[in-house]
Amino acid sequence: GDALAVSARVAPLGSRLVLLLVEDLTEARRIEAVRRDFVANVSHELKTPVGALSLLSEAVMDASDDPEAVQRFAGRMQIEATRLTSLVQELIDLSRVQNDDPLEDAEPVRVDELVAEAIDRCRHQAGTKQITMAAGGTADLHVWGNRGQLAAALGNLVENAVNYSPARTRVGIAARRVNAPGGEHIEIAVTDQGIGISDRDKERIFERFYRVDPARSRATGGTGLGLAIVKHVAASHGGEVTVWSAENQGSTFTLRLPEAGVARDRAHQQSARE
Ligand code: ADP
Repeated sequence: GDALAVSARVAPLGSRLVLLLVEDLTEARRIEAVRRDFVANVSHELKTPVGALSLLSEAVMDASDDPEAVQRFAGRMQIEATRLTSLVQELIDLSRVQNDDPLEDAEPVRVDELVAEAIDRCRHQAGTKQITMAAGGTADLHVWGNRGQLAAALGNLVENAVNYSPARTRVGIAARRVNAPGGEHIEIAVTDQGIGISDRDKERIFERFYRVDPARSRATGGTGLGLAIVKHVAASHGGEVTVWSAENQGSTFTLRLPEAGVARDRAHQQSARE
């Protein structure tokens, strides 16, 4: 009788364990598939600008006595070089987020430094489009996390804001402290006056490789991984990324992250109890 009762109690636990293992396996397979897809995608995408650059440099040499043509080709070379830079940047970001436990080397990270780095990363692209970038409210705020990953997340949001905005618009970055459930958080909002995102697409943009307009996105070097990286980093830090957007008006992406003081204190309390 006892044995039966025990096995009845163990059985559901056992099947839950099996389920967990199966889920783990499929997750591992999924990650492996994404990695394979990614390498294939990026290798393919890298070939295009490299090929174009080599053709364009030949064209420049042939047109050396036609200054106007040289100008034109040089302009296109610059576009291809930007595309290459942004693809390589995405590779760097991806390698940064592949680390298993991002909080293993977590530290207080100054928000103004993250913002400055993100702005620096797209300064060139913003300059050619005459997009003004402005930041506010970042002084004295610290988030808790992996510096490289946080830089990748914010960098992607600012880069998208610049990429999906017309010339002579403004990109604003604003940070503030908010009292979220579970303690103080920092919100960093990136606002653009760009093309916006439809309600239908809003649900899908955080998926890996999803692009609203692949042709347009390819022109800016996108692979559709940026927002998946942002979402992954936010979640693994105990935060969240949300979007507000109106088509042809603009978008605001908000990254919410635990404030350094709170997270650190909680970790200390935890280790004191153990
Ligand atoms: P991509 O490399 O294509 O930029 P992301 O994952 O960063 O990939 O973004 C996915 C898609 O979401 C983009 O292709 C674009 O269509 C849309 N998107 C992202 N950010 C913005 C933005 N600030 N304004 C308008 N559309 C955006």
